[in-house]
Amino acid sequence: MGYLNLLQRYSTLKYQLMKKLLLIIILFAGLKVNAQGWEDAGKYITRDSITRKTYTLTHDTISRKTYTLIFINKDATFAQKGDTVKQRMIDAFFSAYAAEAETFNKNTLNKVTFIIDPDYKGVAATANGVVHFNPAWMLKKPTDIDVVTHEVMHIVQDYGNSGGPGWLTEGIADYVRAVFGVDNPGAKWFLPKFKPTQSYTDSYRVTARFFIWVERNVKPSLVVNLDARLRAHTYNDNTIKDLTGKTFDQLWADYAAANTPKG
Ligand SMILES: [Zn+2]
Repeated sequence: MGYLNLLQRYSTLKYQLMKKLLLIIILFAGLKVNAQGWEDAGKYITRDSITRKTYTLTHDTISRKTYTLIFINKDATFAQKGDTVKQRMIDAFFSAYAAEAETFNKNTLNKVTFIIDPDYKGVAATANGVVHFNPAWMLKKPTDIDVVTHEVMHIVQDYGNSGGPGWLTEGIADYVRAVFGVDNPGAKWFLPKFKPTQSYTDSYRVTARFFIWVERNVKPSLVVNLDARLRAHTYNDNTIKDLTGKTFDQLWADYAAANTPKG
């Protein structure tokens, strides 16, 4: 009996130790992934893994057709004043996510979680099917609803650990915001005109506008193709030449020339 008891205690201890070890490994793996992944995701996970100070105030599950959105609010002010923006975020999710999934990745997650998180100080960040939104930003700029469109594209992208350069990931997400956005004019969000000081590696809107130009003038389905290769981990430095016959530098030079007034 005594021996068995001891054996039992020993294996429980060993089990607990293994659990702790596993947790530490998962935590570090997570940090590593995020250090190499989207910059906005990295900031959040690193901090949140260490401090959790906030609690869920409301938890809604909304399903429309194929997709389910879990909407968690942890912010007291948002609970009082956020009803309108919350409804717009939900509507934007179902409209943008379905369109993005249809165009880019039908195997994307069916279930997405939004967290209104007073601990998050950026605008929004996405990792592993969860988007964190800063309640102060959403309440101050309730028209900036297509933050949703940009962030949920990161879920559709699902590039994982070796997804190519970060400027490409963010350029694609803002291209998608420009194309699938529900109310960019309402947010006074637009793609900035070409300037000689820009580069395609500037990321976000600068890259997005460049992609739109390339699709109109060189290769119509550029972004769908880039996105598919990034997700399949077959993207490399030659991909752009395979798709368009030119390098990014050459395409950018053409874009610059086409957008520079002559004379
Ligand atoms: Zn992003």
